[in-house]
Amino acid sequence: MSADLIDGKAFAAGLRARVASHVPAFKAATGRTPGLAVVLVGDDPASAVYVRSKGKMTREAGMESLEHRLPADARQDDLIELVDQLNADPTVDGILVQLPLPRHLDAEEVLLRIDPEKDVDGFHPVNAGRLATGLPAFVPCTPLGCVMLLEDRLGDLSGLDAVVIGRSNIVGKPMAALLTARSCTVTLAHSRTRNLPHYLRHADIVVAAVGRADFVKGEWLKPGATVIDVGINRVDGGLRGDVDFESAASVAGAITPVPGGVGPMTIACLLRNTLVAAHRRESVPLDERAI
Ligand code: NAD
Repeated sequence: MSADLIDGKAFAAGLRARVASHVPAFKAATGRTPGLAVVLVGDDPASAVYVRSKGKMTREAGMESLEHRLPADARQDDLIELVDQLNADPTVDGILVQLPLPRHLDAEEVLLRIDPEKDVDGFHPVNAGRLATGLPAFVPCTPLGCVMLLEDRLGDLSGLDAVVIGRSNIVGKPMAALLTARSCTVTLAHSRTRNLPHYLRHADIVVAAVGRADFVKGEWLKPGATVIDVGINRVDGGLRGDVDFESAASVAGAITPVPGGVGPMTIACLLRNTLVAAHRRESVPLDERAI
């Protein structure tokens, strides 16, 4: 292995500490702490683990975590009513509805119902549109974390060639928008892309968000490339990324491990977005770029 490891775990711990450091001043200015409401419907074990971990880290950052659980057979109307209540609650700055929802519920309607000013997941079309047009937006947490790791490693990204693999609304598309905003030349590859290695050969930055274990091979990469592996794939009881780590690490200049790379950044960015939402809602000044 010749690549440097990008330590997302350590970077995320630093980000959470920076978020926490701003909470006392917010409290002094407003008399309350920023509040994040997390809605969990049903009892999917993986979702329950994520929600627990979000609650714990929210509290550790000095913010308020409000957890709302609905049964697996909850009706769409119940969920919409809960979102409406959270929208109207002045102590709630961020609302997160844990996905996936049980199959009988319409996730799109629920996400559209969230007040865009409290949409700390950045999934509302208003925030997607704001990101696409360069307006201040809530950016989905995983791609935001990826761009933070890239800037920490590479500094100014301007002019670099980037390939994003995957075009989901949660990762791939906002990732491409963020890199475009930083003046990268971006190729957005997906399941219909012909000859992916052709594009990767020229890429200074590769972000893989495919959902297939070990999909990206080291021999496809440009020597020295910076590789961000978003994938979380459960294989034989262990976790693997979307990049074949062993072969990629012998060609890349730097690479995120799985686990310990992008994963920890997602919750840290959620806390960051909640802090930002609270300051914007209360008109308390905050240097958002410094967090
Ligand atoms: P998704 O299933 O919504 O999208 C996958 C994308 O991969 C699609 O756009 C598809 O076009 C593309 N794709 C599929 N096969 C391809 C191929 N052969 N060549 C090129 N592109 C191909 O997935 P998602 O929600 O974007 O998640 C992607 C991965 O990232 C998953 O492993 C997921 O678990 C992981 N993830 C991790 C975090 C985190 O916090 N680290 C957060 C979200 C998602």
